[in-house]
Amino acid sequence: MTDPRALEVLQRVWGYPDFRGMQGEIIDAVMRGDDAIVLMPTGAGKSLCYQIPALVRDGTGIVVSPLIALMQDQVDALAEVGVRAAFLNSTQDPDARREVEGAFLAGRLDLLYLAPERLAVAGTQALLDRGRLSLFAIDEAHCVSQWGHDFRPDYLGLSSIAKRWPDVPRIALTATATVATRDEIAERLRLTDARRFVASFDRPNIQYHIVPKDQPVRQLIRLIRTEHPGDAGIVYRLSRRSVDETAEALVAAGIPASPYHAGLDARTRRANQARFLREDGVVMVATIAFGMGIDKPDVRFVAHLDLPKSVEGYYQETGRAGRDGEPATAWLTYGLQDVVQQRRMIDESEGDLTHKRNLTAHLDAMLALCETATCRRLQLLRYFGQESEPCGNCDTCLSPPETWDGTVAAQKLLSTIVRLDRERRQRYGAGQLIHILRGQDTERVRQLGHDSLATFGIGTELDEPAWRGVVRQLLALGLLATDEHGAFRVTEASAEVLRGTRQVTFRSDLAVARSRGDRRRRSSTAGATATTTELSATARDLFETLRVWRAGVAKEQDVPAYVVFPDSTLRTIAMLRPTSLDALRAISGVGDKKLQSYGTAVLGVVASAEAAA
Ligand code: ADP
Ligand code: ZN
Repeated sequence: MTDPRALEVLQRVWGYPDFRGMQGEIIDAVMRGDDAIVLMPTGAGKSLCYQIPALVRDGTGIVVSPLIALMQDQVDALAEVGVRAAFLNSTQDPDARREVEGAFLAGRLDLLYLAPERLAVAGTQALLDRGRLSLFAIDEAHCVSQWGHDFRPDYLGLSSIAKRWPDVPRIALTATATVATRDEIAERLRLTDARRFVASFDRPNIQYHIVPKDQPVRQLIRLIRTEHPGDAGIVYRLSRRSVDETAEALVAAGIPASPYHAGLDARTRRANQARFLREDGVVMVATIAFGMGIDKPDVRFVAHLDLPKSVEGYYQETGRAGRDGEPATAWLTYGLQDVVQQRRMIDESEGDLTHKRNLTAHLDAMLALCETATCRRLQLLRYFGQESEPCGNCDTCLSPPETWDGTVAAQKLLSTIVRLDRERRQRYGAGQLIHILRGQDTERVRQLGHDSLATFGIGTELDEPAWRGVVRQLLALGLLATDEHGAFRVTEASAEVLRGTRQVTFRSDLAVARSRGDRRRRSSTAGATATTTELSATARDLFETLRVWRAGVAKEQDVPAYVVFPDSTLRTIAMLRPTSLDALRAISGVGDKKLQSYGTAVLGVVASAEAAA
């Protein structure tokens, strides 16, 4: 049974009727003063796990979070529900800082947000010593792991919290961690005795799609036009230049989009981020510098136009879609060139052999996910140590790919490479190999005398795209490697294929499956919330009117629209048409403070819609 004080706060402050999943248990543990490690997928509601104990316990809760750019929004959102929160970081002028310090010492703060490097400063530690602390929350705790994908050296310093404030409970939270990373978090943060809460990592409302790359920007525009017109989304690209080009292409196609990468000056970055958060339906095109800690709940799609470096990174980035639990899409397009490029980047990277092996292992796991012929979600969850059933809501479940025995094709390709290697000590890229196999009489083939090779023309049964698929999958399987010039060579494992002792199965690269299945079915917030398409026509009108009202309020207050009320709350209001403050207060997402701030205005919007109808 969850402590009744916690439930009271949940209902009074946030206006939510019940805890979700493990929230109640976690909050109980922290309220008792226990340490905890919390692994929950994005959108599951990690913040309440430390916010509520901080409100109930005496003193101020210290929240360590890596991204200072977002602290203002987090604090604003808390102020909207009446929680006294503030932050200390380098962006503040001395006056603002002194004011926050004063409020903290006077016991007037429920929550205080700090970047990890702040906590390392002696002055900050002395300040914390003089106040009363209810708990430490360490957000994005996977940043402490060197094996993980997001290591931040500042996080190593957080191990000292346990020594300096041994009586203050600590709760470490993350949305991404393999079993190995969890152990590393526990060890480095001195949380080996902490209770571990591991929720299912599944995000059932996200539909995963991984498609062969053709013309990625055009594929993306088609995706947005057909599946996500008017929706907010994030597009990830590897390089700054491709970010700029992609954003321009979207704008030229009439899709509101902004770029975000480290090469833009801080002001432009801030402005673009603010636009993405505040306006409806903006697409952010970004390098992975963007996104950590972004808690915009209504991001409807996350698209990767280049291959991510690890499954952890991919899962975390795609997790930014659909935090509100409503249907969302994770879409990745990748091709042969991605694999070649990533392998080369690893070869050329600095660092010792262990480091390179780490990177290779991460990439191989990512490639296995891309090339799987079985459920994507099953593979993803297995990677994080959780078993599950085929999901029915990913591309391979919705339209199972055909597979074929590619052993002979693989042998043809590999033996061509072996022959070229042996006879001329030369290596070639995919184009030339495919020309040879397909017996194409190009100038280069003739010049090099490749038409006299024994394998010339033995591969006419496959067309060029099919051969590219073969090359890509062999590369993904480690049966083919590239040298420092990006040309192909065989590997030790290829010998088994050439000898005929190893079979190879490929997936057919079919045209991109268009069937989307019934997306509503998979919404994870079952119960009272309806999707917009399920509303009656009159309710839909009222919902749109409420959104217009919300946009006005958000602009006036200079906060993101969802901070005023999330879509799900507006939709329920549109459906139930409350006529009294009590009826409004009973709706999920309407707490005391919001009722006080907006109750009368909302009832007014509902009443005038009623009158107009
Ligand atoms: P996380 O940090 O795990 O990604 P958040 O803490 O941002 O997730 O929560 C995601 C969304 O779910 C937020 O809009 C939050 O207000 C909402 N939420 C959290 N807990 C509950 C609950 N018990 N009932 C209803 N909504 C909740
Ligand atoms: Zn599936």
